[in-house]
Amino acid sequence: MIPVAEPSLGEEELANVTEAVKSGWISSKGRFIEEFENEFAKYCGVKYGVATSNGTVTLHLALKALGIEAGDEVIVPDLTFVATANVVTYCNARPVFVDSHPQYWCVDPEKIEEKITPKTKAIMPVHLYGHPCDMGMILEIAEDYDLYVVEDAAESHGAEYKGKRVGSFGEINCFSFYGNKIISTGEGGMCVTKDEELAGKMRILRDHGMNPNKRYWYDVVGYNYRMTNLQAAIGVAQLRKLDRFVEKKREIARLYEEGLSELAERGLIKLQPEMAWAKCVYWMYCILIEDKFGRSRNELMKKLEENGIETRPFFYPMHLIPPYESNKAFPAAEQISREGINLPSAVGLKEEEIKFILEKVKSG
Ligand SMILES: *Cc1c(COP(=O)(O)O)cnc(C)c1O
Repeated sequence: MIPVAEPSLGEEELANVTEAVKSGWISSKGRFIEEFENEFAKYCGVKYGVATSNGTVTLHLALKALGIEAGDEVIVPDLTFVATANVVTYCNARPVFVDSHPQYWCVDPEKIEEKITPKTKAIMPVHLYGHPCDMGMILEIAEDYDLYVVEDAAESHGAEYKGKRVGSFGEINCFSFYGNKIISTGEGGMCVTKDEELAGKMRILRDHGMNPNKRYWYDVVGYNYRMTNLQAAIGVAQLRKLDRFVEKKREIARLYEEGLSELAERGLIKLQPEMAWAKCVYWMYCILIEDKFGRSRNELMKKLEENGIETRPFFYPMHLIPPYESNKAFPAAEQISREGINLPSAVGLKEEEIKFILEKVKSG
C-alpha cells in the first residue's frame, strides 16, 4: 500500500532518543523539552512554546488559559477535524460553526460576523490541509468585536499568510505532532504565544494547576498535559528537517498539479488551491471529484485502494455528526466534504509512485 502519510524518521531522531534514554530523563523533565519549545516557538516567530502530550490538549489548554467557560461561544469552522469543536465542548462552552470559503476551503471570513453574539469570546481559524486562513480579515473582525484568536495550525507547520508564518497571529496558537502530521513526535503538540503571562498560565494548567512557587499547592484545577523528553527528543530532530519537509510537500503538490491539470481544465476535478496571499504546505495533497468525473468520489477511492493506493475522504462537516447535528445550512462545507479526497503525500513518496497514482486517477 502507498500510504497517505507516514513519519520520516532517521539517525538524528534515534541519536536524540538514545541520549534521552541513556540519561534516564524519559519523563516530562529533560533538556530536549525546553530546546524543542524554544526552537519551535522561534520557528513560528513568537517567544514562548508550551509542549504538550497531543494536539487536542493544546487547543483545550489554550481555551482554558483564555478563560473560556460555560455560557461562552466560540467560532469554529464547520469543516475541520472534530477536535477543534470538541475542545470547546470540554470547556462547557458552545462551538458555533461557520461555512467554508468555496475557493480555499478554510473558514469563510465573510460569514463570521453574522454568527457573533454577545456570548462570543473567541475565533478558532483552522488552516485546513496546509492552507492558511485569511488571517487579515479574521484579525480585523476579532479586533472589532474584542474576541480572542486561537489558530488551529495542527495541519500547517510552516504555512504562511502574506509572508508571515502561521502560529504567529492569534493570542495562542496550536500545533499537533501526531504521526501523520508534517513533523511528528508520535503523539504530541505545542501551544505557541507571544504573551508571557498566557504561557505561564498554560504551564501551570499543564501540570495539574500546581503553583510554581509552592509544591503540591493548587490554585486552580489543572491537567496532566505534559510532553515527555522522549517525544521532545524526536521533535528537536524533526524540527531541523521541517523546511525540507515543507519543500518536499510542495514538490509533491507540483507533480500532482502537473499530472492532473488536464482533468482540472476539463472540469472533472478541482485541484488543491493556493491563494495569492498564501504559502500552502500541502499537509495532504487534496483533490475534489466533480460530477463530470464519471465515477463518484467513493468509487474512485475504492479503485485506488484496489491498486494499492491509500486515500482518505475529507472530514465530515461538524453539523452532520451526531454531537453537533443541526439543520443549519453550510453548503460550501458540505460540497467540499462530499467531493474531497487526500492523496498519498508522505515526504518519503517517490516520483514513480506519484506517476503510478496519476495514471490510476487519470484512467477514470
Ligand atoms: C490532528 C488535528 C488535531 C488534533 O491533534 P492530535 O495530536 O491528533 O490530538 C486538531 N485539529 C486539527 C485540525 C487536526 O488536524
